[in-house]
Amino acid sequence: MADSTLKRIHCKVIRLNNGWAADQVVEVGANGLITGIKAVNGAPVDRILEGPVLAGMPNLHSHAHQRVLAGLTEVHMPGQDHFWGWRELMYRVNARITPDHLEAIATQLYIELLQQGYTSVAEFHYLHHDSGGHHYESIAEMSQRLCAAAQNAGINLTLLPVLYNQGGFDGQPLEGIQRRFCNTLEQYLHLVEVIKETLLDTSSNRLGLAVHSLRAVSAKELRELSAIAEKYYPQAPFHLHVAEQTAEVEQCLAAYHARPVEWLCGEHDLGPRWCLIHATHMTAAEIRAVAHSQAIVGLCPATEANLGDGLFPLPAFLNGGGSFGIGSDSQVCASPARELQLLEYGQRLAERRRAVVVDEPERHVGAALFDRAIRGGSRACGQQCHGISVGAAADLIELDPQNLALASRSPDHALDSWIFASTQSCIRTVITSGRQVVTDGRHDLQEVATDRFRGVLQELDPAGQI
Ligand SMILES: [Zn+2]
Repeated sequence: MADSTLKRIHCKVIRLNNGWAADQVVEVGANGLITGIKAVNGAPVDRILEGPVLAGMPNLHSHAHQRVLAGLTEVHMPGQDHFWGWRELMYRVNARITPDHLEAIATQLYIELLQQGYTSVAEFHYLHHDSGGHHYESIAEMSQRLCAAAQNAGINLTLLPVLYNQGGFDGQPLEGIQRRFCNTLEQYLHLVEVIKETLLDTSSNRLGLAVHSLRAVSAKELRELSAIAEKYYPQAPFHLHVAEQTAEVEQCLAAYHARPVEWLCGEHDLGPRWCLIHATHMTAAEIRAVAHSQAIVGLCPATEANLGDGLFPLPAFLNGGGSFGIGSDSQVCASPARELQLLEYGQRLAERRRAVVVDEPERHVGAALFDRAIRGGSRACGQQCHGISVGAAADLIELDPQNLALASRSPDHALDSWIFASTQSCIRTVITSGRQVVTDGRHDLQEVATDRFRGVLQELDPAGQI
């Protein structure tokens, strides 16, 4: 990729953390961070962006390998039309994925995410070993491939190696394809150190820690890992899936005599570093506890709808002061705009009212959704600053002023229209850490990546596994 680092970017209309501003120059340092935001003063600039400029959206929950499955699981399976049936289909396909495949799949996915307006991705990564459960020569082989894909595509990566070593609350060992996921806590900590020492050497990459879910590790190991995270990885976000499925809630009640979120809040001192993915099924007391803890909830509306998870209790959570971000999870939707639209629409259908996410004195639903997802998503990705502000990464997206969906609209109405009334990406320019990676909607590596991805699809034949 040609060096496209920009030092001074003139934005004619830009959404800063305190609202819209006109004719601002974003100054970018050598490390890709914003060093200043100043009114245009006639000094030369590297780029002029005419359309409304927004912060790039963090994608706080991605399983890159599931990109090959997107759209293929819409088949009726008598008695199996639920999450667990879908998971079996997903396992069949991911059994065949090699390191080369993963790099090609993730590169294609990350380019698609960039083109739709995501500029960073938290990769919840548990596909550690070969399909027999044997370790590759380096325990971090698959992690390295994800880092390479992010580097190729130019997306900021928060790599979340996942601890996953039991098949249920009863502690049964992992079997079949799940052996790919398995590390003891000791092996996992070794993996984390290898990633930290050898892979995350740029300012665009970060490390986070994760356990797959309460059913996938013992209570003892979760306690140990959480203590280690606190002591040795104070900057790293800590993620887990929780309360996505009612069956999981029932299993947790049987094993721990508490609901998943209730148990987690009782056993652990949740705080701003924690990110609870889904948290769909909560009581009023659980909602209050999570909101109060300042943990982020990671919402993946398209995947949650696709899998029939249930509807997140957003109004009560926001009333309690809760924070959320969004993720692409199973990759049925690469667009942050579509995720935010579905998030709001699900709530409208349930509440039978409009503008559910907005709180006085806010007026525009698009801005309310967007700003909240930027704030929560940035923290869940381990970023110290959010939005377009000094100290944050220079991650900018420009809405296309030529797109008819946005024409003749104020910036607020353009943001609303992108989220609620466009059928296209509407993104003209994407800049990550000061580097322009999407120009006129196109990514430099698009053709090469797509060719490789088509080859992977032929080799894996995911449709043939369904
Ligand atoms: Zn997930």
